[in-house]
Amino acid sequence: MSDSVRTVKVRDRAIGGSELVVMAGPCAVESREQILRAAEVVAASGAGFLRGGAFKVRSSPAAFQGLGWDGWKLLREAADAHSLLTVSEILSEEQIEPARRYVDLAQIGSRNMQNVPLLRALGRSRLPVLLKRGFGCTIDEWIHAAEYVLNEGNGDVLLCERGIRSFETATRFTLDVAAVPIARARLGLPVIVDPSHAAGRREWVTSLTLAGVACGADGLLIETHPEPAQALSDGPQAVPLAEFPKLMDSVRRVSQALGRSFAAPPVTVF
Ligand code: PEP
Ligand code: MN
Repeated sequence: MSDSVRTVKVRDRAIGGSELVVMAGPCAVESREQILRAAEVVAASGAGFLRGGAFKVRSSPAAFQGLGWDGWKLLREAADAHSLLTVSEILSEEQIEPARRYVDLAQIGSRNMQNVPLLRALGRSRLPVLLKRGFGCTIDEWIHAAEYVLNEGNGDVLLCERGIRSFETATRFTLDVAAVPIARARLGLPVIVDPSHAAGRREWVTSLTLAGVACGADGLLIETHPEPAQALSDGPQAVPLAEFPKLMDSVRRVSQALGRSFAAPPVTVF
């Protein structure tokens, strides 16, 4: 399974081999204390990347929009303190060059998947890209979006399945597990599964995480927060940091059963 995709390099880290990569952290960077605490726990649990949005795309303009540049600075500081790489959403072409100092992997959000000028600009920039699937887009449209980046000469593209809109309302979105092997086979690029935005509620995150590993994902993008009840965005789907090591332990066991490795140390109690 794992040898059928090309390896994508993000700094010194290769994604797409037998080892699974975990990207974890809060939906948004909210404070220095919050992101440092998240970095400490996710690093100790085996994650390789710290996630955290600084420029948030929210459904309502009244909702928290992120800390902006200060958020990126805090994300970098926290990641560096624990030897993690960073993944964060880039909203516009103008943000790409200044983002290089703070963002190792540029996330294109679900709502921006078909923003062609942004896709082309990231293609020219050669910054590694995490391309989220538009929640109303087919696998074909997602693949074409990736081709806009690839065609500019940037081969460092990771696809991210984060759930699509269906008639179901028990979950926030419907995780399209079939999209994982299909997209991997069609483009030969690693696929990352985001169980958090699909589930919308933390109680289903473990099941969707393990389903993602079982259907061949090359990595996971998971939201976790020191105090989900206080989170300024996506609190209901955030796994409490205190429970994150246990989730990673399950990931390690399922990965092993499938012949993939995941370097999660034995569960540590924080
Ligand atoms: C996020 O990762 O916090 C996010 C906004 O994701 P998406 O674009 O998939 O909704
Ligand atoms: Mn989120």
